[in-house]
Amino acid sequence: MAKKIKSSGRFGARYGSPLKQKRILIEEKQIKKYKCPLCLNLKVKRLSSGIWYCTKCNTKFAGRAYSFQE
Ligand SMILES: [Zn+2]
Repeated sequence: MAKKIKSSGRFGARYGSPLKQKRILIEEKQIKKYKCPLCLNLKVKRLSSGIWYCTKCNTKFAGRAYSFQE
């Protein structure tokens, strides 16, 4: 029996509870809107990993992968 840990183990049948819990927290951060450092509106959305976009002043920012600012 070969045990695969790296990529296949992540989203396979054994979708472990600690992982699921982490995933929920990450998704909450992704959906949450953040304050734009330029126009100070809560209009910053996550475009993709590390890229954040303000819908108010149309500016893209480099941020963290799953949250914009701490
Ligand atoms: Zn803005």
